[in-house]
Amino acid sequence: DVDVPESHPRYESLLTRHRIEDGVEKGITSQQGLIAQGRGEAFDYLLGERTIESADRAERVAAAHLLVADHSVISVNGNVAALVPGEIVELAEVTGADLEVNLFNRTEERIEAIAEHLREHGASEVKGMAADARIPGLDHERAKVDADGIGDADTVVVPLEDGDRAEALGEMGKTEIVIDLNPLSRSAQVAAVPIVDNVLRAVPNMTEHAQSLRDRSTGELQEMIDEFDPDETLAAAEEAIRTGEVA
Ligand code: ATP
Ligand code: MG
Repeated sequence: DVDVPESHPRYESLLTRHRIEDGVEKGITSQQGLIAQGRGEAFDYLLGERTIESADRAERVAAAHLLVADHSVISVNGNVAALVPGEIVELAEVTGADLEVNLFNRTEERIEAIAEHLREHGASEVKGMAADARIPGLDHERAKVDADGIGDADTVVVPLEDGDRAEALGEMGKTEIVIDLNPLSRSAQVAAVPIVDNVLRAVPNMTEHAQSLRDRSTGELQEMIDEFDPDETLAAAEEAIRTGEVA
Protein backbone atom coordinates (compact mmCIF):
# COMPACT_ATOMS: atom_id res chain seq x y z
CA ASP A 1 0.00 0.00 0.00
CA VAL A 2 3.04 2.26 0.41
CA ASP A 3 5.33 3.02 -2.48
CA VAL A 4 8.61 3.58 -0.67
CA PRO A 5 11.67 1.60 -1.80
CA GLU A 6 13.19 -0.39 1.08
CA SER A 7 16.59 1.04 0.21
CA HIS A 8 15.38 4.54 1.10
CA PRO A 9 17.47 5.75 4.07
CA ARG A 10 14.32 6.88 5.90
CA TYR A 11 12.28 3.81 4.96
CA GLU A 12 11.07 2.95 8.48
CA SER A 13 10.23 6.52 9.27
CA LEU A 14 8.25 6.98 6.06
CA LEU A 15 6.40 3.72 6.58
CA THR A 16 5.48 4.85 10.07
CA ARG A 17 4.11 8.13 8.76
CA HIS A 18 1.95 6.27 6.30
CA ARG A 19 0.53 4.08 9.06
CA ILE A 20 -0.39 7.16 11.08
CA GLU A 21 -1.94 8.84 8.01
CA ASP A 22 -3.95 5.65 7.37
CA GLY A 23 -5.00 5.73 11.02
CA VAL A 24 -6.36 9.24 10.62
CA GLU A 25 -8.22 8.21 7.47
CA LYS A 26 -9.78 5.23 9.26
CA GLY A 27 -10.91 7.39 12.19
CA ILE A 28 -8.51 5.66 14.58
CA THR A 29 -5.87 8.35 15.05
CA SER A 30 -6.60 11.98 15.93
CA GLN A 31 -5.12 15.11 14.34
CA GLN A 32 -3.17 15.61 17.58
CA GLY A 33 -1.79 12.12 16.99
CA LEU A 34 -0.03 13.44 13.91
CA ILE A 35 1.72 16.06 16.02
CA ALA A 36 2.72 13.50 18.66
CA GLN A 37 4.16 11.37 15.84
CA GLY A 38 6.28 14.27 14.60
CA ARG A 39 7.63 14.86 18.06
CA GLY A 40 8.43 11.18 18.48
CA GLU A 41 10.24 11.06 15.14
CA ALA A 42 12.57 13.86 16.19
CA PHE A 43 13.61 12.00 19.34
CA ASP A 44 13.94 8.72 17.48
CA TYR A 45 16.26 10.43 15.00
CA LEU A 46 18.42 11.68 17.89
CA LEU A 47 18.53 8.17 19.37
CA GLY A 48 19.72 6.75 16.06
CA GLU A 49 16.40 4.95 15.43
CA ARG A 50 17.53 1.92 17.41
CA THR A 51 16.77 0.28 20.72
CA ILE A 52 19.55 1.44 23.02
CA GLU A 53 20.83 -1.02 25.63
CA SER A 54 19.17 0.74 28.57
CA ALA A 55 15.82 0.60 26.74
CA ASP A 56 16.23 -3.11 26.11
CA ARG A 57 16.85 -3.62 29.84
CA ALA A 58 13.76 -1.55 30.66
CA GLU A 59 11.72 -3.63 28.20
CA ARG A 60 12.89 -6.80 29.95
CA VAL A 61 11.96 -5.44 33.39
CA ALA A 62 8.60 -4.29 32.01
CA ALA A 63 7.97 -7.86 30.84
CA ALA A 64 8.87 -9.12 34.34
CA HIS A 65 6.36 -6.68 35.85
CA LEU A 66 3.63 -7.90 33.52
CA LEU A 67 4.34 -11.52 34.43
CA VAL A 68 4.21 -10.96 38.22
CA ALA A 69 1.24 -8.55 38.17
CA ASP A 70 -2.12 -9.62 39.60
CA HIS A 71 -3.93 -7.55 37.01
CA SER A 72 -2.12 -5.72 34.23
CA VAL A 73 -3.74 -3.51 31.62
CA ILE A 74 -2.24 -2.15 28.41
CA SER A 75 -3.68 1.22 27.46
CA VAL A 76 -4.19 1.74 23.73
CA ASN A 77 -4.57 5.11 22.03
CA GLY A 78 -4.97 6.09 18.38
CA ASN A 79 -1.25 6.13 17.60
CA VAL A 80 -0.61 2.75 19.21
CA ALA A 81 -3.58 1.23 17.36
CA ALA A 82 -2.32 2.60 14.04
CA LEU A 83 1.32 1.62 14.57
CA VAL A 84 1.30 -1.74 16.37
CA PRO A 85 -2.21 -3.27 16.45
CA GLY A 86 -1.16 -6.90 16.02
CA GLU A 87 1.93 -6.54 18.20
CA ILE A 88 -0.01 -5.04 21.13
CA VAL A 89 -2.60 -7.85 20.94
CA GLU A 90 0.24 -10.37 21.06
CA LEU A 91 1.88 -8.70 24.06
CA ALA A 92 -1.46 -8.83 25.89
CA GLU A 93 -1.89 -12.51 25.04
CA VAL A 94 1.60 -13.56 26.08
CA THR A 95 1.46 -11.68 29.41
CA GLY A 96 -2.22 -12.16 30.25
CA ALA A 97 -2.82 -8.40 30.26
CA ASP A 98 -6.11 -6.71 29.37
CA LEU A 99 -6.37 -4.18 26.56
CA GLU A 100 -8.19 -0.92 27.25
CA VAL A 101 -8.74 1.93 24.82
CA ASN A 102 -7.89 5.29 26.38
CA LEU A 103 -7.98 8.50 24.43
CA PHE A 104 -6.80 12.02 25.10
CA ASN A 105 -9.70 13.32 23.06
CA ARG A 106 -12.35 10.80 23.88
CA THR A 107 -15.20 10.09 21.48
CA GLU A 108 -17.36 6.96 21.50
CA GLU A 109 -16.88 6.61 17.72
CA ARG A 110 -13.11 6.59 17.93
CA ILE A 111 -13.09 4.17 20.88
CA GLU A 112 -15.34 1.80 18.97
CA ALA A 113 -13.23 2.14 15.79
CA ILE A 114 -10.05 1.32 17.72
CA ALA A 115 -11.67 -1.62 19.54
CA GLU A 116 -12.88 -2.99 16.20
CA HIS A 117 -9.41 -2.50 14.69
CA LEU A 118 -7.86 -4.47 17.59
CA ARG A 119 -10.46 -7.24 17.23
CA GLU A 120 -9.57 -7.46 13.53
CA HIS A 121 -6.01 -8.04 14.74
CA GLY A 122 -7.02 -10.90 17.00
CA ALA A 123 -8.09 -9.26 20.28
CA SER A 124 -10.85 -11.22 21.99
CA GLU A 125 -11.87 -8.55 24.48
CA VAL A 126 -11.22 -4.82 24.42
CA LYS A 127 -12.13 -2.61 27.37
CA GLY A 128 -12.69 1.14 27.42
CA MET A 129 -16.36 1.51 26.55
CA ALA A 130 -17.76 1.13 30.08
CA ALA A 131 -15.98 4.23 31.46
CA ASP A 132 -17.52 3.51 34.87
CA ALA A 133 -14.58 4.59 37.05
CA ARG A 134 -12.59 7.81 37.40
CA ILE A 135 -8.92 8.66 37.95
CA PRO A 136 -8.86 11.19 40.82
CA GLY A 137 -7.43 14.63 40.08
CA LEU A 138 -8.22 14.83 36.36
CA ASP A 139 -11.02 16.68 34.60
CA HIS A 140 -14.11 14.65 33.77
CA GLU A 141 -13.41 13.44 30.22
CA ARG A 142 -9.74 12.71 30.83
CA ALA A 143 -10.50 10.80 34.02
CA LYS A 144 -12.71 8.07 32.54
CA VAL A 145 -11.52 4.45 32.77
CA ASP A 146 -13.17 1.05 33.10
CA ALA A 147 -13.71 -0.11 36.70
CA ASP A 148 -12.71 -3.67 35.82
CA GLY A 149 -9.84 -2.45 33.61
CA ILE A 150 -7.38 0.32 34.48
CA GLY A 151 -9.52 1.11 37.55
CA ASP A 152 -8.72 -2.29 39.04
CA ALA A 153 -5.19 -2.81 37.63
CA ASP A 154 -2.05 -2.95 39.77
CA THR A 155 0.19 -2.57 36.69
CA VAL A 156 -0.48 -0.43 33.62
CA VAL A 157 1.39 -0.02 30.36
CA VAL A 158 0.83 3.45 28.98
CA PRO A 159 2.51 4.02 25.63
CA LEU A 160 2.58 7.68 24.57
CA GLU A 161 0.51 8.78 27.56
CA ASP A 162 0.16 12.46 28.36
CA GLY A 163 1.95 13.78 31.43
CA ASP A 164 -1.09 14.66 33.54
CA ARG A 165 -2.68 11.27 33.30
CA ALA A 166 0.61 9.46 33.78
CA GLU A 167 1.13 11.41 36.99
CA ALA A 168 -2.42 10.80 38.23
CA LEU A 169 -2.18 7.05 37.55
CA GLY A 170 1.08 6.91 39.48
CA GLU A 171 -0.56 8.68 42.42
CA MET A 172 -3.23 5.95 42.46
CA GLY A 173 -0.40 3.59 43.41
CA LYS A 174 -0.31 1.72 40.13
CA THR A 175 2.97 0.44 38.75
CA GLU A 176 3.40 2.41 35.57
CA ILE A 177 5.30 1.31 32.50
CA VAL A 178 5.61 4.21 30.06
CA ILE A 179 6.83 3.96 26.46
CA ASP A 180 7.93 7.41 25.32
CA LEU A 181 10.77 8.48 23.05
CA ASN A 182 11.27 11.70 25.02
CA PRO A 183 13.22 11.01 28.23
CA LEU A 184 12.37 14.54 29.44
CA SER A 185 8.62 14.03 29.06
CA ARG A 186 6.74 14.10 32.36
CA SER A 187 5.20 10.73 31.45
CA ALA A 188 8.64 9.14 31.28
CA GLN A 189 9.76 10.95 34.43
CA VAL A 190 6.94 9.60 36.62
CA ALA A 191 7.13 6.00 35.38
CA ALA A 192 8.31 3.09 37.51
CA VAL A 193 9.68 1.74 34.23
CA PRO A 194 10.36 4.36 31.56
CA ILE A 195 11.01 2.83 28.15
CA VAL A 196 12.70 5.36 25.88
CA ASP A 197 12.16 3.62 22.58
CA ASN A 198 9.80 3.64 19.61
CA VAL A 199 6.60 1.62 20.28
CA LEU A 200 7.33 -0.07 16.95
CA ARG A 201 10.43 -1.68 18.46
CA ALA A 202 9.48 -1.68 22.15
CA VAL A 203 6.26 -3.69 21.99
CA PRO A 204 7.56 -6.72 20.03
CA ASN A 205 10.71 -6.71 22.16
CA MET A 206 8.66 -6.76 25.38
CA THR A 207 6.78 -9.77 24.00
CA GLU A 208 10.04 -11.57 23.24
CA HIS A 209 11.32 -10.88 26.73
CA ALA A 210 8.04 -12.07 28.25
CA GLN A 211 8.32 -15.31 26.29
CA SER A 212 11.85 -15.96 27.47
CA LEU A 213 11.05 -15.02 31.11
CA ARG A 214 7.87 -17.06 31.31
CA ASP A 215 9.41 -19.98 33.19
CA ARG A 216 11.31 -17.90 35.75
CA SER A 217 10.18 -18.01 39.36
CA THR A 218 8.36 -15.05 40.87
CA GLY A 219 11.38 -14.54 43.14
CA GLU A 220 13.75 -14.22 40.20
CA LEU A 221 11.44 -11.82 38.40
CA GLN A 222 11.01 -9.77 41.56
CA GLU A 223 14.77 -9.53 41.96
CA MET A 224 15.06 -8.19 38.43
CA ILE A 225 12.36 -5.64 39.22
CA ASP A 226 14.01 -4.53 42.48
CA GLU A 227 17.39 -4.00 40.80
CA PHE A 228 15.94 -1.65 38.20
CA ASP A 229 16.59 2.09 38.56
CA PRO A 230 14.34 4.36 36.46
CA ASP A 231 16.54 7.44 36.94
CA GLU A 232 19.56 5.59 35.65
CA THR A 233 17.58 4.52 32.59
CA LEU A 234 16.45 8.07 31.84
CA ALA A 235 20.01 9.36 32.31
CA ALA A 236 21.33 6.70 29.92
CA ALA A 237 18.79 7.74 27.27
CA GLU A 238 19.70 11.42 27.66
CA GLU A 239 23.35 10.50 27.39
CA ALA A 240 22.71 8.53 24.19
CA ILE A 241 20.90 11.54 22.70
CA ARG A 242 23.66 13.96 23.69
CA THR A 243 26.65 11.90 22.65
CA GLY A 244 25.31 9.44 20.10
CA GLU A 245 26.89 6.72 22.24
CA VAL A 246 25.04 3.59 23.24
CA ALA A 247 24.60 3.70 27.00
P1 ATP B 1 4.04 15.83 28.70
O1 ATP B 1 5.37 16.54 28.86
O2 ATP B 1 2.96 16.40 29.54
O3 ATP B 1 4.22 14.37 28.89
P2 ATP B 1 4.12 15.78 25.82
O4 ATP B 1 4.70 17.05 25.35
O5 ATP B 1 4.96 14.60 25.88
O6 ATP B 1 3.50 16.06 27.26
P3 ATP B 1 2.54 14.79 23.58
O7 ATP B 1 3.14 15.54 22.47
O8 ATP B 1 1.09 14.49 23.52
O9 ATP B 1 2.79 15.50 25.00
O10 ATP B 1 3.26 13.42 23.77
C1 ATP B 1 3.60 12.60 22.74
C2 ATP B 1 4.81 11.85 23.25
O11 ATP B 1 4.82 10.61 22.59
C3 ATP B 1 6.10 12.57 22.94
O12 ATP B 1 6.93 12.58 24.07
C4 ATP B 1 6.73 11.69 21.82
O13 ATP B 1 8.13 11.64 21.93
C5 ATP B 1 6.12 10.34 22.10
N1 ATP B 1 5.98 9.51 20.91
C6 ATP B 1 5.40 9.82 19.72
N2 ATP B 1 5.46 8.79 18.85
C7 ATP B 1 6.07 7.77 19.50
C8 ATP B 1 6.41 6.44 19.14
N3 ATP B 1 6.15 5.93 17.94
N4 ATP B 1 7.03 5.67 20.09
C9 ATP B 1 7.32 6.17 21.31
N5 ATP B 1 7.01 7.42 21.71
C10 ATP B 1 6.40 8.22 20.83
MG1 MG C 1 4.60 13.10 27.33
